Formats: sequence, structure tokens, C-alpha cells
Amino acid sequence: MEINIQKRVLEKNETEADKNRAFFKNNKVFVLNMMSSPGSGKTETLCKTLGKLMPEIRVGVIVGDVCTTNDADRLEVTGAKVTQINTDQFGGDCHLAAPLIDASARQLGCDDLDLLIVENIGNLVCPAEFDIGEDARAVVLSVTEGEDKPLKYPLMFQVADAAILNKIDLLPYLDFDAPLAVENMKKVHPGIPVFEISAKTEEGFDPWLEWLRTKVKEKLGIVTK
Ligand code: MG
Ligand code: ZN
Repeated sequence: MEINIQKRVLEKNETEADKNRAFFKNNKVFVLNMMSSPGSGKTETLCKTLGKLMPEIRVGVIVGDVCTTNDADRLEVTGAKVTQINTDQFGGDCHLAAPLIDASARQLGCDDLDLLIVENIGNLVCPAEFDIGEDARAVVLSVTEGEDKPLKYPLMFQVADAAILNKIDLLPYLDFDAPLAVENMKKVHPGIPVFEISAKTEEGFDPWLEWLRTKVKEKLGIVTK
């Protein structure tokens, strides 16, 4: 019974996600869904990413949290168009579903954007199941978490098109085995690109930015190389 309800919820979401895809296509905007557990440094990674991509690429952000506008406030400083979704008004959902993205994307306006980034709610479980009509998904894992998270939450890493290993500036102070974490990501998703970065020191950003720029330009039909 419970499984059937969950199936219907996901089917309805899929229909809404298809509508979002059409809306994003009409607006010629590339959409990236960023996911992670809480505290992995998604917002800081985004702040630095926006600072490096803009104004060459026009970026907007939809930030999801259960409560507060703290992350939107931090992102607004970059000059990007930002809108915050607080799911506590809708029962405190722990993921962003397609209808919420539809409403926020229309409110934000996408016709003047090249890239829309959705900072999903910190959670490695259900955000992986909810298609929001995005073009690509990125998952952020930080070195203060366990190397085995990709094995514990395989779906999240399987649906991701890229993975970021963040906070590598802390590696000298931790027992975290970075090669093992990368190996675990590749075990559940062979061939996934993994970018080892520090959002704090900005180490390792160039390959990540290049991956994202290429994706955006592919969708917008801009020929690179
Ligand atoms: Mg955040
Ligand atoms: Zn959820």
C-alpha cells in the first residue's frame, strides 16, 4: 500500500518535471540540481562558483531549506538572482519536488539566465528520487563525512552526473581517506567525474568550472573548442 502511494507521488512528480523541462528549454536555460547532506558546503561551493562564472554566464539560484533564508542571503551577495523555498509552509518536505521548482522558476524569471542552479535541501535520500526537470545533477560530499557514504546512499551517487569532494583543505587534520571515498563513488557509479575542491581556499575549482561551463554551452548551442 505504502509503496503504491510512493509510486503515484513519483509518477505525478515526473509529469510535472516534464513540464519544467519544456519551460527550461523554451527559456534556453541549463538547470543544475545540487544535492548533498547538510553541512557539506553546498552554499559556499555555489558562492565561489557563481563568483567565477558570472558575468560570462548569467546565473540564477533557487535555494531549498526547510526553514530560514540564510543560504539565499549568502548567495545574493554574489549578485545572482536568488529565490528561497522554505518547505515548512508545505509540511516541511525534506526534498524539492517538481511543482515547487515550477513556481519558483517562474517567480525568478529564467529568460535572462543561462544557468539556473537549484540548491536542494540537505539530504542524501529522497532528493535523488525527485526529478525536477534538470539537465544535470551534482552531489557534494565533504571530507568531514564518512568515506562510505556513497555505499550507504548509492542512489544519490548513481543519479549524479558529477561529484564534488569538498573541504580538502582539512585533509591534513583528518583520518579521511580521500582516494577510498573517490573509489567508493566510482564503485556505485563507474566513470562519474569527481572534483576534489576546497570551497574555502578555492583549490581545485578549475576542472569543476570547466565541466559546468561546457555543459551550459552545450545546451545553449555555443560551440566550444
Ligand atoms: Mg546550504
Ligand atoms: Zn524528502
